[in-house]
Amino acid sequence: MSENCLFCRIVRGEIPATIVATTDDAIAFRDIDPKAPVHVLVVPREHIRSLNDATDPSLVGRLVALATDVARKEGVAESGYRVVFNTNEHGGQTVHHLHAHLLAGRPLNWPPG
Ligand code: AMP
Ligand code: ZN
Repeated sequence: MSENCLFCRIVRGEIPATIVATTDDAIAFRDIDPKAPVHVLVVPREHIRSLNDATDPSLVGRLVALATDVARKEGVAESGYRVVFNTNEHGGQTVHHLHAHLLAGRPLNWPPG
């Protein structure tokens, strides 16, 4: 837990978010500034700064599995989706609490800008 971390505060319920799924160790909520019709963030409850600090590969696997569950619930599993972990500066990470972006609902450009 990190006192002032934005996503820790969402996990604690101190900042409102549109939660779409929860598990024992993660939550999924809609991105406040969506880059696609479906844009959900999948976040571990534990404060982990980035993929570089994710020492438990099974936790990372559970985050990906939750992203896939949400894709199914949102009805985009067949049309397709992207799961992205932005990591540190060059990866475009702005919130330093590990999260996966689930993006879907339109054709996504590749490579991303
Ligand atoms: P990243 O740039 O990979 O660190 O992603 C951080 C994401 O968090 C961005 O897509 C932001 O739009 C999103 N974000 C920032 N503040 C909030 C918030 N209060 N609720 C939901 N999403 C947020
Ligand atoms: Zn945090």
